[in-house]
Amino acid sequence: MTSWFISDLHLSPARPDITRLFLEFLQEQAVHADALYILGDLFDAWIGDDDTSDFAAALQGALRQVTQQGVPVYFIAGNRDFLVGPRFARMTGVRLLNEPAVIDLYGTPTLLLHGDSLCTADRSYQRFRRIIRQPWLVKILLALPLSMRMRIANKLRASSATQQPLSAEQLAIMDVTDTAVIDLFVRYDVGQMIHGHTHRPAIHEHQLPDGNTAERIVLGDWYEQGSLLRVTRTERQLISQPL
Ligand code: MN
Repeated sequence: MTSWFISDLHLSPARPDITRLFLEFLQEQAVHADALYILGDLFDAWIGDDDTSDFAAALQGALRQVTQQGVPVYFIAGNRDFLVGPRFARMTGVRLLNEPAVIDLYGTPTLLLHGDSLCTADRSYQRFRRIIRQPWLVKILLALPLSMRMRIANKLRASSATQQPLSAEQLAIMDVTDTAVIDLFVRYDVGQMIHGHTHRPAIHEHQLPDGNTAERIVLGDWYEQGSLLRVTRTERQLISQPL
């Protein structure tokens, strides 16, 4: 049996090919799984559960089909879709997890998170993150009209798209820091961590202060391909699926 981990699909009506690939994955693979874990940035922007667009409805319907087959689907919010809330969970059957979440993955305690909180060298982003994720501000955002939330989301997206090309130094700042990773391993006393956000799929080994090693699996994005982590009792495999 298999558990799947995905993140950073950045689904949007503007990229129907990626949406199609995701729907195929749900119908052909996820429905046969032990579990599916979505570790954030499923959507390029999620402006609230009251979004009644065809796009939102189609994806909610597809997720519901998976959970109705009895496959548990878990969701941890990313920086693009932290407005996914209880109504989305009710409509899809998806279970929302707070981050970081510790799960028992075939006998291995495993820490799950989106990953943006590990990029501690990016001070200005961390400041923005602390503010935007405050419950009172989320409440205010959700009270705004949908159209206004859409404009805000577009603005945020445009400002993050204008920063390229990035220097090597900027790229380093946007990756996780070793200190943040080790801190988390120690604090939660686990030997395995899975996250996305950096779009740098890999399996890293980390040396812990107590001499043990821990492994950090980074999920890939869905820009040019589908990216999956397949975990069974005996295997862990990062898979790139062509469009
Ligand atoms: Mn992200």
